[in-house]
Amino acid sequence: MTKSERPIRVRIAPSPTGPLHIGTARSTLFNYLFARRTGGTFILRLEDTDAARSSIAYEKDILDGLHWLGLTWDEGPEVAGEAARGLFGPYRQSQRMPRYAEVAARLLAADRAYPCYCTAEELEAERAQAEAEHRPPRYSGRCANLTPAERAAFQAEGRAAALRFRVGEGIVAFDDIIRGHVEIGTDALGGDFVIVRADGGPLFHFTNVVDDIAMKISHVIRGEDHLSNTPKHILLFRALGEPIPQFAHLPLILNPDRTKMSKRRSQTAVGDYIAQGFIREALVNYLALLGWASGTEEEIFTLDELVERFDLETVHKAGAVFDRERLEWLNGQWIRRIPPDELVERLRPFLEAEAVAGRIDRMPGDDEIRSLVPMVRERLPLLGAIGDLVGFLFQDEVSLDPASLVPKRWDAATAAEALRAARAVIADVGRVSYEADEIEPPLRRLAEERGWKPGDLFMAIRVAATGRTATPPLFDTLVALGYERTLHRLDRAIAALPAQGAAATA
Ligand code: GLU
Ligand code: ZN
Repeated sequence: MTKSERPIRVRIAPSPTGPLHIGTARSTLFNYLFARRTGGTFILRLEDTDAARSSIAYEKDILDGLHWLGLTWDEGPEVAGEAARGLFGPYRQSQRMPRYAEVAARLLAADRAYPCYCTAEELEAERAQAEAEHRPPRYSGRCANLTPAERAAFQAEGRAAALRFRVGEGIVAFDDIIRGHVEIGTDALGGDFVIVRADGGPLFHFTNVVDDIAMKISHVIRGEDHLSNTPKHILLFRALGEPIPQFAHLPLILNPDRTKMSKRRSQTAVGDYIAQGFIREALVNYLALLGWASGTEEEIFTLDELVERFDLETVHKAGAVFDRERLEWLNGQWIRRIPPDELVERLRPFLEAEAVAGRIDRMPGDDEIRSLVPMVRERLPLLGAIGDLVGFLFQDEVSLDPASLVPKRWDAATAAEALRAARAVIADVGRVSYEADEIEPPLRRLAEERGWKPGDLFMAIRVAATGRTATPPLFDTLVALGYERTLHRLDRAIAALPAQGAAATA
C-alpha cells in the first residue's frame, strides 16, 4: 500500500509527566485540525511507561485541558466517566506491555536487537571518557557481537541484559511535510540504542513506534524537538517491515529572546492561562498562529474556521515566538465576541474567586453581572482582570489614599472643595433620576464655572467613588455603584482630606 492510500490516522501521544504544556496543546490542535480537515481519525494515546515520572494528576490536567480547549478525539483511553473508544486500544502504554514484549522478542530473534550486559558503571565510564575526549557520547557496541558462550557467561554472573537495537550504517532520509528533505547519518544517533531496559521496561522510541504501527498511524505531527529522534523511529519501522508514516515536525515555540520556550522563562502550563482568564476561543486561535498563518490579513478564527482553512503544507519551519501581548490582545477581542449571558457564566468563577480571597465583600447576582457586561466587555484583556476592573462595586468600603484624591495640578483644599461641590450636584441630580447622561452635563458646568479642568474634577470623583484611578467610564460607574453609595463614598473622601482652607460644609 502506498502512503497516500492509507486511511488518515493521526495521534497525540502525551506523557503524563507534567501539566499540559503549551507545546503539547499546539501539537494537539494541529493534529486535530489535520484530522478534521481531511476526514481522518484523531487518536489520543497516553505514553505513561515512565512510572516514576507519570502521575494521574498530570494525566487529568492534560485531558481536562484538552477538553477545555474543545479538542475532541475519536479514539482514546477510558478516563473518569468516559469509556475507551476505538478498536486499537488499549490507548495507555502501561496497559500494552505484552505487545512490547512480543515485538522485542521478534527483533531479538531476527538479530535486529541484541542483549547488552553492560552495567550502569561501565556505561558511565564510557560516557565520562567520551566527555574527557570531547567526543559526543556513543555506545561502543561492545555487546553487539558477543558469542553465545560470552552471553551465557554474563548470564551466569547474574547480569541482567538490556535490549539494544542495531542502528547499522548509512544515512536515513525522509521528506518531512514541513521541513522538506531531511537526511541524518546513523553515526549521529549515539550508537545502538536501548529499546528495553534490563528491568524489562520498554523505552520511548520503541513503544512510540510499536504503537504507531499497531494504531496504523499515517501521519506523525509533532514538535521539532522530536526531529532528531525520527531516524531512530524510521529504522525501527523498517526493521519491523512496516510502512513508514509521513512526518510533519512543527516549529519550536520560542521565548521572546528566541531561546526555546521553557517554564523557567515563560508560562508554559495551559492551566495557568486558564486560571488567569484566557478563554478557549482565544487560546485555540493563538495556538493556531504558532507556526501557521491564514495567508490573509485575517487573524481571528473560530475552531471551525481553522478546520476549514488549515493546511499542514503551509506550516512554517521557522521558530514561532510566543508573544503574550498578542495573546492578551486576541483574548480581549474574543471576550467582546462572547454573547453577554455566556460571558456572565464565564465571569462568575472569577468573581467567586475574588470573594473567596476577600477582595470583594459580596458576590454579585447574575443580573448584576449581566448589567456590567456592556461596561466591561471592551476592557478585559483577561477574565481574571474583572476584580481589578469593577471589584470596588462589591466592596463595602474602598480604601482611600488621601494623596491619590488630589489630582496633580491641585492641592488638597481644592480637591476637598471640588468634591463637596460635586457631591451637591450629584445629590441634586440623583433625587430626580440617577442616569449617566443626567450626571455628566451639570458636572461639566460645575468645572467650567470654577475654572477646573473637567479631567481633574472627574479624576477626584473617580478616586473618591472607587478607590482607584483607572475604572470603566466614570458616569456608568457611578450609576452601577448606586446613588446612596456614591454619596456615601464622596462623604468619606471629603472627610479623608484635610479640612483647612476648605469652605464650611453645608
Ligand atoms: N510522548 C512523546 C511526547 O510527549 C510523544 C512524541 C510523539 O508525538 O511522537 O513528546
Ligand atoms: Zn553492552
